[in-house]
Order: sequence, then structure tokens, then C-alpha cells
Amino acid sequence: MSESRNVWVFVEQQDGCIANVSLELLSKARELAGQLGGRVGALLLGHGVADLTSDVIGQGADEALLVDHPELAVYRTLPYARVAIDLVKEREPYIVLFGATPIGRDLAPRVASACWAGLTADCTGLQIGDFERGGVTYPDLLYQIRPAFGGNVIATIVNPEMHPQMATVREGVMHVSAPDVARHGDVVRISPKFHSNDMALQVLERVMREPTCNLRSASVIVSGGAGVGSRENFQLIRELAAAMGGEVGASRAAVDAGYVSQEHQVGQTGTTVRPRLYVACGISGAVQHRAGMDQSSKIIAINSDPNAPIFQIAHYRIVGDLTEVIPMLIRALQDNARG
Ligand code: FAD
Repeated sequence: MSESRNVWVFVEQQDGCIANVSLELLSKARELAGQLGGRVGALLLGHGVADLTSDVIGQGADEALLVDHPELAVYRTLPYARVAIDLVKEREPYIVLFGATPIGRDLAPRVASACWAGLTADCTGLQIGDFERGGVTYPDLLYQIRPAFGGNVIATIVNPEMHPQMATVREGVMHVSAPDVARHGDVVRISPKFHSNDMALQVLERVMREPTCNLRSASVIVSGGAGVGSRENFQLIRELAAAMGGEVGASRAAVDAGYVSQEHQVGQTGTTVRPRLYVACGISGAVQHRAGMDQSSKIIAINSDPNAPIFQIAHYRIVGDLTEVIPMLIRALQDNARG
């Protein structure tokens, strides 16, 4: 088991742009390393990414472990896994964190499995604490906190023996601290040692699609649920969002019913949002939906059922049929805008 108390973050970047979740994790790693008395390491892989070392150091890393190589220009499982596994085995960090993104979810299990370490996926909270079992106390473990059993319990998972302790963490649940451009840190350049079969897969072409909505940075979100009733009625949600200058969100039931595409889904398996205002229309307020929006500053709920659970967390409650309430709201907003 490692003696180090260092906390590493796999810094995900594409085309020289660092993923938000990596910035969130660096901020969290800073806090955890402070409690442990360890250092924050940023594992930065790519090609032509040396400039990003100052960003990761400004965000909280003490050490940027830079692996810059043409074969790492675009994410591929085998070469990235080779580099990450070799570094983790050689330097034995205490904790390694990845974003719960498609790349993080692909890479983290390979690293964990190769290092015989545990891995908790999709964490929504991380803390340091002691754990006792059979009269033995394991001090300063990573509490890996996540919803389990369909979101009906919040589980705290620990890994007392097989280190490093590893977790993937959902995007949007940790706060990003303000970067400190004056912060100093070490840049450690590392030359990767690939095996010939690491290059089995060649990328011939990349096709990028621009996202059609940006829920994460929206300050107003109007979301529709199964109570909207039909794809046609979902136009009301779009109109209200437009009248309020906001983005369109949805519950999973609305997505499953085909009212709107999945990138609009808010919740445990959708996007985690923190707008100034969240308007929930025809959404019951299941725990899995609330997990993605209960950090909103203000919540308005429109629901025909006065006992709908969403009303327990709403700051403003409108009991009524949304097909009547939403047109009234839109008219009121338009009248207001006309003065
Ligand atoms: P319902 O629960 O069917 O609620 C519809 C609401 O509309 C009711 O409250 C009803 O009173 C109201 N209503 C009906 N007609 C009207 C009307 N005319 N006017 C006003 N109100 C009306 N869900 C998510 O949203 N996001 C997730 O990320 C997510 N992840 C999940 C992950 C797992 C592992 C599991 C098991 C479930 C997940 N779910 C998620 C699903 C979740 O459990 C609920 O099933 C879902 O959130 C319900 O969506 P809803 O509130 O739109 O539908």
C-alpha cells in the first residue's frame, strides 16, 4: 500500500480545451490534499498541451505530470491507459479522480483493474474520514459518496486496503474555485513507453457535433416532464423558456416519451444544473430528477397534483393544469416586457 498522501486528477482535454469536470476535480483535490497533507497531481496527457500546465497549477495542482506525445493527440483507450497505469504504479498516489465522462468512464476501470484497486463510479460527493472494521481503524480514507439502488439510498463507499482509492465523479456537482494565476507548481515532463499493440486502433476521422443546448451554464431553465402530455404540448415549454430567456430542460420520463432529446435531461443520469431559476412543469419530483436540480437558487413548480413531491423543494408552487398556466405566464411576461 502507498505511503503517499497525494491526490491525482486525470485532466481531460480535447483540442487543448480542459473539460469543466477536471477543473471541478482539481478544486476538490486541493481541498482533500489539504486535509491529508499531500500534494495535488494533475495527469495531463495529449499533444501540444504544455501550455495547459499553468491552467492546472492555477486551479490547484502542485505538480503537473505532463505526457506530451503525438500518439496522445486524440483520446484512444490503449495508449492513454498505458501511460496512466505506468504512472500510477510507479508513483503510487493515494487517490486518483476522473470525470464521469465517456473518456473517464472508459479509462478509470482499466487503470483500477490493472492496479488491483477499487473504483467507485459516478460519485456525487467526496470526503476524508476514518473507517473501522473488526477492531481495526483505517484513518483518512476517501469516502466515495453516490446514489445507489436507483437513487433511493445514498451510499458511502470506502476502499481500506487496495490503493489507490479511485473514483469517477459526475460533472457539475463540485464547485470550481477561482483560478490563481500567481500560483506556482512543478511541471514534470514524462516520456511514455508504448507497446506495439497499444496502437492497434487508428483514428481515421473525427466528426464533432455542436451541442444544441447548454444547461450547465444556463441561469434560467424551464423543464417539462411526463405531465406535459405530448410532443406537441412540449412546444409550450420551449415558448416559456424563450419568454424567460432560458434553456429547455426535461425529466427522463419526457425524454423517454420522445418529447425532447436526451441532451436536455436533468437529473442523476442527465445533467446536473445550478441555475438562478428552475421552472419544473409537469414533473413529479422523483429523487433522481431532484439530484440534478435541487441546488437551483429558486424553484418554481407547476403541477396539477397539490401533493406532488416537487412542491416539497419548490420556493413557488402553482397548482394547476400546465396547458392553462403556461400560456397565462407567457402572456404576463410579454405584457410586462411591453411595459
Ligand atoms: P411523472 O413521475 O410521471 O410525473 C408527472 C407529473 O406531472 C405528476 O406529478 C403529475 O401530477 C403531473 N401532471 C400530469 N398532468 C399534468 C398537467 N396537465 N399539468 C400539470 N401537471 C401535470 N429522472 C429524471 O428526470 N432524470 C434523471 O436523470 C433520472 N435518472 C434516473 C436514474 C435511475 C437509475 C432511475 C431508476 C430513474 C431515473 N429517473 C430520472 C426517473 C425518475 O425516477 C422518474 O421516473 C422521472 O423523473 C419521472 O419523470 P416525471 O416527473 O416527468 O414523470
